[in-house]
Amino acid sequence: MNMPDSILEEIFIKRSQQKKKTSPLNFKERLFVLTQDKISYYDYDVDKGKRKGLKGYVDTEKIKCVAIVLSDDNTPPERLYPFQIIYDEGPLYIFAKSDQVRKQWIRELKNVIQSNKDLMQKFHPRFWEDGMWKCCKQEVKQAMGCRVTESKNGGFLNRDNKSISRKPLPPTPEEEKLPRPLPPQPPVPSGFSLGMTVIAEYEYTPMASHDLELRKDEEYTLLEINDPNWFRARDKYGNEGYIPSNYIAQALNGLEKYDWYCKNINRSQAENLLKTENKDGGFLVRDSGKFTGKYTVSVFTKVGGETVGNCRHYNICVNAQDQFYLAENHNFSTIPELIIYHQHNAAGLVSRLKHIVSNRTEHAPSTAGLGYGGWEIDPRQLTFIRELGNGQFGVVKYGKWQGRHDVAIKMVKEGSMSEDDFIEEAKVMMKLCHENLVQLYGVCTKQRPIYIVTEYLANGCLLNYLRDGLQHPTGIMLLEMCKDISEGMAYLEANQYIHRDLAARNCLVDSNGTIKVTDFGLSRYVLDDEYLSSAGSKFPVRWSPPEVLLYCKFSSKSDIWAFGVLMWEVYTLGRMPYERWNNTEIVEKISTGQRLYRPQMANERVYSLMMSCWHERADERPTFQDLVVIIKDLLFNM
Ligand code: ADP
Ligand code: MG
Repeated sequence: MNMPDSILEEIFIKRSQQKKKTSPLNFKERLFVLTQDKISYYDYDVDKGKRKGLKGYVDTEKIKCVAIVLSDDNTPPERLYPFQIIYDEGPLYIFAKSDQVRKQWIRELKNVIQSNKDLMQKFHPRFWEDGMWKCCKQEVKQAMGCRVTESKNGGFLNRDNKSISRKPLPPTPEEEKLPRPLPPQPPVPSGFSLGMTVIAEYEYTPMASHDLELRKDEEYTLLEINDPNWFRARDKYGNEGYIPSNYIAQALNGLEKYDWYCKNINRSQAENLLKTENKDGGFLVRDSGKFTGKYTVSVFTKVGGETVGNCRHYNICVNAQDQFYLAENHNFSTIPELIIYHQHNAAGLVSRLKHIVSNRTEHAPSTAGLGYGGWEIDPRQLTFIRELGNGQFGVVKYGKWQGRHDVAIKMVKEGSMSEDDFIEEAKVMMKLCHENLVQLYGVCTKQRPIYIVTEYLANGCLLNYLRDGLQHPTGIMLLEMCKDISEGMAYLEANQYIHRDLAARNCLVDSNGTIKVTDFGLSRYVLDDEYLSSAGSKFPVRWSPPEVLLYCKFSSKSDIWAFGVLMWEVYTLGRMPYERWNNTEIVEKISTGQRLYRPQMANERVYSLMMSCWHERADERPTFQDLVVIIKDLLFNM
């Protein structure tokens, strides 16, 4: 049985710590239990599967570093995945059964110790053995580590630009595997198959004649999945039609329909969510680990009327009769029944489950077009409400479609766009559908001027938002913005779609503060020499890498350069890049290796991320998929 406060439990092999010179080196199986305060290890009866006596523990507040250990070539198979917990008595060496388990423990441990004082700057990547550090051959056990701990959880490849002349340190063990690219984004949302039962996560009212209504939490059967954005489905009454694929979820464990079930969140995200909600008895249910198939109830309490509350985590246990329980003697055949019981009875928990905390977005996402089918929109169904701004193609207005749906309408000034080419392209753009891209809904092409109809974002252009929309910008807020943009761009990159004009002026902000990228690929249809020629006054020189300025070579890597500049705009709250230089000076300085300075709000790691986007050689720059991983890792550690 799990202890109520345990974060993780696992049987590992532990190496003896040889605190005395004469004590033998041995390896024993121990049951390790991690809680917020301690990592304890117990003797373990393998036959009975039972925990026996406590053999030792380390207070988590004493831990100075957690890292993997590089194993030697002649390592026995059961000891292939070692890691170390360093505290004042030296390293505790533990051997996991798989790299996945090792990673999970390192991640959780780092999470627990993240605000410890005196976390180590350097450590030893190999074992202390036979009176010597295997890595650096030093013979004093207290000798300072020989590897720099790059990151609190190792996900960040630091490029230290200021010390190019210094011989770079060899990579740390964790670094050798990173950055680890994500698998490419599949064009069809993965996991769906014909005949599968799905659950509607949002209401959907049909917009086109072939659409099917979705009622939240009801089940539907998939009949056709050829179009990645629109599936054909049947409801339980036998009605059939098209539904937006981003409004449904697979019915995997039956918990999806409950608002308290938060899919895909980890312990620290759960704590953030609960703390933000700040209600006594606030709770949610999450997966205990990534692939464990177990669940944890996280509860927030303000015991005794404290102003700051804290979070408790209870694993949902299963007894021999396959019943679920949190506290003993209260067993249930399903998890929802267990939750209902504890909504009324604390029964051993710190509080009864009073208030559901959910990570679902309240607003339904945008659909790829207004209903299934064509991209042509009938202009008589549009109402114009007010002017939003003026751009390269003319006036942009806010309005309604069918009197109900918010839209932005670009009224394309005649002679400003190669229209036929654009209309052809619009069919492709319509299919690009991601929560960090401004959705193209359709076009009105039967009249002049033509209209481009898109999703409307209430907070307008990111550049203005940075300049005067932010009350008290924090590092986390700014990095969240960069994360949004990098995710939208990673989707474009995976679809081999080049933006060509990525900048803060081409990002918009919705009512929740989410950033979405807009105007992707549009620059190809601009009819204006000042904009098209790199010598022109409107060409985005300040966002362009050398290969674009010199040979007009656009690629996802030139988008990466622009992303770096956009990050810089974010961290300077909307300053003009290379403020005091004109275009000719910029081209000159960039080709001699000069770069933008570090904004005050950007720490070294954020700045080296920007700098990595400005590598002279395009193939040395990261991909957007790399950036997503790195930025999420930075956020995770803030
Ligand atoms: P163009 O791409 O033709 O140069 P923009 O897209 O820059 O035009 O639009 C001009 C202004 O209109 C923007 O700065 C922004 O303030 C506003 N705007 C454009 N599209 C939207 C939208 N979808 N939602 C809200 N505001 C928008
Ligand atoms: Mg624009």
